[in-house]
Amino acid sequence: MTADDLAADHSSKLLHRNTVAVTAGRPARVPDAPLNTPLVPASTYVGGGELGYGRYGNPGWTALEDAIGALEGGRALTYGSGMAAAHVVLELLPVGGTLVIPRHCYLGVAAAAQERAERYGLEVRIVDLTDTDEVLQAADGADIVWLESPTNPMMEVADLTRIGRELRDHPAIFVVDNTFATPLLQTPIALGADIVLHSATKFLSGHSDAVLGALVVPESAGDLYDALEATRKLHGGTPGTLEAYLVLRGIRTLPLRIRQAEANATELATRLADHPSIDAVYYPGLEKDPGHALAKAQMSGFGSLLSIELRDAATADALVEAAELWVHATSLGGVESTFERRRRWAGELPTVPEGLIRMSVGVEDVEDLWDDLTQALDKVPGP
Ligand SMILES: *Cc1c(COP(=O)(O)O)cnc(C)c1O
Repeated sequence: MTADDLAADHSSKLLHRNTVAVTAGRPARVPDAPLNTPLVPASTYVGGGELGYGRYGNPGWTALEDAIGALEGGRALTYGSGMAAAHVVLELLPVGGTLVIPRHCYLGVAAAAQERAERYGLEVRIVDLTDTDEVLQAADGADIVWLESPTNPMMEVADLTRIGRELRDHPAIFVVDNTFATPLLQTPIALGADIVLHSATKFLSGHSDAVLGALVVPESAGDLYDALEATRKLHGGTPGTLEAYLVLRGIRTLPLRIRQAEANATELATRLADHPSIDAVYYPGLEKDPGHALAKAQMSGFGSLLSIELRDAATADALVEAAELWVHATSLGGVESTFERRRRWAGELPTVPEGLIRMSVGVEDVEDLWDDLTQALDKVPGP
């Protein structure tokens, strides 16, 4: 079987995303072909072909990239982790260049940007991404504008539609971290993004058993694709063969998982908003949330991440300790419901409240999730 046989049927792009999640990245339909692209653990290949060496390509990456690319509406490249993918993007910055990042964004990205800033004399402009004028002003003279929407962990929503439109003919590379929304709820390339980043470790994998990252660029961005691929070859941040297999397997059920998890999140957010021990609920799916109108306009759903604010750190810590079904763990996007107090991380920003818990709602029965939360809330000091 050649790499070409394993390439996705690109006509799948004409199908609904729910279908593409199932059809993309399959081997050619010939008698006795397996339905799934097999694991190919290979460090090298017989010479004379396109793959050549294990750091340059793997049929499993190709299958996964076909699926992620088809879902996002572009061409994908996969990497060893979301952070490996992020570094490949940061590598596009010239010495002395300028990067715009949001005040609240994935902490690893913020740390990597600051580290590079010192070493390479970069200017890092930190913006409140809910202030579109501020973002556009900061974009002036920037090399990269990096946004994440909704943001981690404050669930703020950026006006990707307007920013994407305004940056379309702008020299800055517009990057959107689409990890929280997934391509099923938001497709930033259609809104004008030049690069979409995924920590596939989260929703795309969906089962908390793989670390992998991806970048997606528009079909028309051939030079950018080549640059990103060349950096992967030279820096070696390649995905594992097993991880690529697991993530593609995860994508098959992404639509189902998202639907169930979002329904659970919506119900829990609504109930938590009325609970006397909860000071605030941050979830764009709630009508009174400041990001609701924007999210409704540019996303096809609100996702399954939300944050709740308790009185203080001790109360929030007591809640996560008292839970039995909810898992106290970092990371997100798995079938199992997890939560954590964000400020337990030294790097988390002081603008994130001490008592804020980020919740990644899974696909369990919502009543069991609610019962566990209420029994845990009963154990913490009241309002
Ligand atoms: C987890 C995460 C990352 C980093 O991805 P890894 O796969 O952990 O390296 C980047 N952005 C967001 C929004 C994330 O949640």
